[in-house]
Amino acid sequence: MDTKTLTITKCQKGYSEGEFTPSDVVAALSKNINEKNDSLNAYLEVFEDVNEQIDNLGEQKGDLWGIPLGIKDNILIKGKTASGGSRILEGYTAPYDATAIKKLKNKKVLFLGRTNMDEFAMGSSTENSAFGSTKNPIDESRVPGGSSGGSAAVVAAGMAIAALGSDTGGSIRQPASLCGLVGFKPTYGAISRSGLMAMGSSLDQIGPITKTVKDTQILFDAMSGNDPLDSTTLPDDSFKDERKDAYTIGVPRDLIEQEGIDDDVLEQFNSSLESLKEKGHTIKEIDLEHADYALAAYYIVMPAEVSSNLARYDGVKFGLHEEGENLLDEYFKTRGVGFGEEVRRRIILGTYVLSSGYYDAYYNKASALRSTIRSEFDVAFKEVDAIATPTTPTPAFKIGEKIDDPLAMYLEDIFTVPANIIGVPAISVPSGTAKRDGVVLPLGFQLIAPHTHESTLFALGEDIEDGV
Ligand code: GLN
Repeated sequence: MDTKTLTITKCQKGYSEGEFTPSDVVAALSKNINEKNDSLNAYLEVFEDVNEQIDNLGEQKGDLWGIPLGIKDNILIKGKTASGGSRILEGYTAPYDATAIKKLKNKKVLFLGRTNMDEFAMGSSTENSAFGSTKNPIDESRVPGGSSGGSAAVVAAGMAIAALGSDTGGSIRQPASLCGLVGFKPTYGAISRSGLMAMGSSLDQIGPITKTVKDTQILFDAMSGNDPLDSTTLPDDSFKDERKDAYTIGVPRDLIEQEGIDDDVLEQFNSSLESLKEKGHTIKEIDLEHADYALAAYYIVMPAEVSSNLARYDGVKFGLHEEGENLLDEYFKTRGVGFGEEVRRRIILGTYVLSSGYYDAYYNKASALRSTIRSEFDVAFKEVDAIATPTTPTPAFKIGEKIDDPLAMYLEDIFTVPANIIGVPAISVPSGTAKRDGVVLPLGFQLIAPHTHESTLFALGEDIEDGV
């Protein structure tokens, strides 16, 4: 059994036709885990109760029955450790299930383990994990992307059928792209954030990393829906499946063709567009004048929300506690020891942009910019059904290459961040490759659609998958 190519739909078929059982699939995945995880460091923990979960599956029912998934370490599964890739939560046990997990439990999914990530989802390479970096299974000298790098690596290495990640500025799409997988960030409010550790609450979404667009759609359908525990979730009837045969795809050349994008990445992107044209779709150049300021707005809004969300880790309420001379001293000591460098950098930045003297100069400006960008996309979406960009400006980079240069690392998100800033859905689908040091590395093609138009992304994503 080749677990690297085994998809949710293939598993379902194999189960229905009696070709193999969930135990067989878990055994094949476990073999890979035993062989590769020590070196990849993709799972932080493989759950000991997987056999018990198999025993409790009951009769085969539905499209996710007995499908083994990896879960990012910031999504709560009741009774399991959830550390958010941070020392401050090392050994913290989740007291309840995230709503997305509850829905998957009802569908009889199997939970294989929790996957490595950048601390509290801050990063683009999984090098910011307190528990060591994850390696890219395609080339172990390279990063798998981040922050959901562990989730992408377990799927690419045949150590899970699919996985869940979270995306605040690209953390599902970028690692999926760097590992040759499909990564999807749903419309803001499509999937409940209850039980997802908050990073930037106005930007965060849970989403799948899979081998096919169809698998992504299956997981999206299972996890989405209104939830009284998250007041930002949309009504259940928000999503309509309105597929068309031909779409108009907008290309924001000013955003794409800038310094920092590799020549062969641009070439591959253009040739994917040509193939979409051959399939009957229309390509149209569009103007998104302020889209490349989305990254600047993101690096104000996100740290502001981070500084507020992470205030709860004070050494008293959760996880790590360091003794001090008084309460304030304990806060300082616990947070000083428990948080890594990137997290501390963002808390300081966020506190600064929210401070009374600078609030208007930074936070308010970024919020205003966010509205401007939203209006520009609204105008564009009157003329086009979706907007296309490469997912990342480069293929997977070397471990250590960008870790000492935060700005270079932040530029990884230049194409993915706009979708979070305005809350629209976006998908990354593998399309073509680029060679670096003799190794063939995957590239991703990103499509962005208007709010709740996920069906456009699934339809176009399948076209790309079919050989663009
Ligand atoms: N790489 C981005 C950041 O560091 C995005 C992170 C994410 O989507 N969680 O903030």
